Amino acid sequence: MKRAIFLTLALTGSIVAAACSSTPASSDDDDQGQGGTSSSTGTAGGNTGIDSPFVSETEVTRLVQTLASDEFDGRDEGTPGSTAARQYIVEEMQRCGIQPAVNGSFEQPITTGDGINIVGVIPGTDPAQSDRHVLVSAHYDHLGHCGGDICNGADDNAAGVALILGVGCALAENPPAKTVVIASWDAEEPPTFLTQEMGSEFYAANPVFPLEQMDVAIVLDLVGSDLWPGFQDHFYLGAELSPQVAAVLDATPVPAGLPVQRFGLHMVEEQPLGFQPWSDYNGFRNRQRPVLFLSNGQNKRYHTPADELGTLNLPKMALEARYLLNVVNNLASSAEVPAFVGEGADHGRDVEANRAVLEAALAAGGLADALGLGQASRDALQGDLDATNAVAAKLTNGESLTSGDLTSLRNGAQRIMCLAGSTYMESLCAAF
Ligand SMILES: [Zn+2]
Repeated sequence: MKRAIFLTLALTGSIVAAACSSTPASSDDDDQGQGGTSSSTGTAGGNTGIDSPFVSETEVTRLVQTLASDEFDGRDEGTPGSTAARQYIVEEMQRCGIQPAVNGSFEQPITTGDGINIVGVIPGTDPAQSDRHVLVSAHYDHLGHCGGDICNGADDNAAGVALILGVGCALAENPPAKTVVIASWDAEEPPTFLTQEMGSEFYAANPVFPLEQMDVAIVLDLVGSDLWPGFQDHFYLGAELSPQVAAVLDATPVPAGLPVQRFGLHMVEEQPLGFQPWSDYNGFRNRQRPVLFLSNGQNKRYHTPADELGTLNLPKMALEARYLLNVVNNLASSAEVPAFVGEGADHGRDVEANRAVLEAALAAGGLADALGLGQASRDALQGDLDATNAVAAKLTNGESLTSGDLTSLRNGAQRIMCLAGSTYMESLCAAF
């Protein structure tokens, strides 16, 4: 079903571009009528944006299958498996024309630790704008071994790397006006998370391209799976930090079959026990760069040996890749320079996304059914939904929100995270 929808859109969106210099390895790709070409539509009705075989399900599957294989032994930084994974990513970048960004190399050694970042670049085509860049990134490291087994981290974060490679290769074939930097971070996972040894933190402190010329930092983490079985939604967080970034998202068509929910970062970061950043966007946001954090959230397989290829939602990943291709292309084609507004918030969006996710969680076959939640958790989720609707009514009436209103909004999002993830027990989620 999902595949059929994708095929239809891929074909309706096809205006075939000129011959290209490189094609995905998977020439048997059947998602596209025109192998090795990119396509686009106009801006009038029926716009489905640009497309490329590099973001097809076949190509995304090929990449994530290799990245999540035992061959790389869990991709822990400083190990032979990590070196092999890095060589594979660099080869894929070279093969499709992404250029080395670090003095003729793709590698940025993290001198504060053991890791090595990978940084490639697609130079912008407009000399007047190509000093500006959009960063598209995903960490490639994972835990190595855990629970006595190889932890392959298919969702965390082989999936994210597959998507940035697909999008990067598509843009290398048809570059936008501004420069696009494709980066894959090392050392995101504990114990280096949020330390100076973390790849993205090191890059933010030692950027290859000046941060003041960075329009937005896009970070992917946990984009390969579903928050709970059967839940198709994909989350974009952080757009509230820049009105210009939000405007580009508003104007970018979302592929049919991919529900995208936009949350403010505060919804998941401002927790009862304190402030909790979740991934590689933190170093950039701390330096007042606009960020977008893309994720499907932590599910029950998070940081366990069960995070394997067979649990990924590959048709959904292809839809995510095509949407991201359009988001990046539109950001890097915009003449505007996005501003960072630190106090930015879009509570209308927060309410809308919260309501959608809570309703889906409580619906037949939703989170509560899929995970066999007890009545207390169901009642708590219903309470969160009621509170969200009460906040929505205040917004409709033009009333300003209190800190208590914001807390009750966040409770819903955070209870969902708590219940859906692997690191909490249902009883602990009562804290929300
Ligand atoms: Zn991760």
